[in-house]
Amino acid sequence: KAKEEGKNRYRVFDESLDQGMIRRLGLENDLRRAVHNQEFFVLYQPKWDASSGKAAGMEALIRWRHPELGIISPAEFIPIAEETGLIIPMTRWIMGEACRQNQQWQEEGFEPQCVSVNLSVRVFESQNLLDMIQCALSGTGLDAKYLEVEITESILASDIQGIISQLMKIRELGIKIAMDDFGSGYSSLGSLDKLPIDTLKIDQLFVREYESGSKKAIIQAIITLGKQLNLELIAEGVETIEQSEFLNGLGCSIMQGYYYGRPMNEDQIREWLSTSTESSTVLVQVSGPQL
Ligand code: C2E
Ligand code: MG
Ligand code: MG
Ligand code: MG
Repeated sequence: KAKEEGKNRYRVFDESLDQGMIRRLGLENDLRRAVHNQEFFVLYQPKWDASSGKAAGMEALIRWRHPELGIISPAEFIPIAEETGLIIPMTRWIMGEACRQNQQWQEEGFEPQCVSVNLSVRVFESQNLLDMIQCALSGTGLDAKYLEVEITESILASDIQGIISQLMKIRELGIKIAMDDFGSGYSSLGSLDKLPIDTLKIDQLFVREYESGSKKAIIQAIITLGKQLNLELIAEGVETIEQSEFLNGLGCSIMQGYYYGRPMNEDQIREWLSTSTESSTVLVQVSGPQL
């Protein structure tokens, strides 16, 4: 009997593995189609400066509206896009869209904000990343100072010299560069001062567990490091007033997280921008669906 159960267990395992592989293969095909059919849209998550009581930019986050499966999380499709190289046309699209939308908000009279776009390490291998960025700016008329790119520590594991020279050219255009999810990746601290970056984004993992002694120590160390290297600091994943006060107390006043605002569509951002500039106090409840 035990033997049978054992066999069954293996079969169940195999089947679920197949299911996972089938979904993945399906998504891979669908992703090619999605790039052509424009099945993507962008949400924007605000950043908040608690010391000035003002909006401090926002981050563009891609979403995929799959015709049969509904909204699929980037955590699932970005790795597939990276492996297939589809991340390159997708990044070209979101870069253009984020610049267009940002320019439009400014033309409508909202106080100018810097919008950041996430860059996978894979797009640095495409060789025309700089072109892609310049096209997005010239095609929309957005001033480069209102564009930021976010990279991750995983770039430290690849052709670092090639990437540094590309980052320097991007920066020469006047675009800011942020290190995303800092502390969660390769953390080769020795390479950090070689990178032309302006901002460290403290990974949300540390913020979530800030009450644990070790996470608290890591947050303090990152803030000290950032200040010593003259970098701006921003904390990700701030969900509570307690986390916000803790970070602010340590000198990290710029924050991003559900406490300040979820990723929102363009109209919800309009509402957020108008209410957040009127009131100096924080919590702005934006109506509409939580996205
Ligand atoms: P990320 O760049 O670190 O973005 C932050 C993620 O954390 C977003 O998830 C955001 O919705 C979520 N988040 C923000 N505040 C909170 C909070 O208070 N609590 C919690 N629990 N989560 C919060 P999202 O939009 O699902 O994106 C996941 C990741 O997918 C991003 O992490 C980024 O690495 C990647 N991604 C998203 N859009 C793009 C894109 O256009 N290009 C590339 N290359 N990657 C992207
Ligand atoms: Mg990011
Ligand atoms: Mg992040
Ligand atoms: Mg992340």
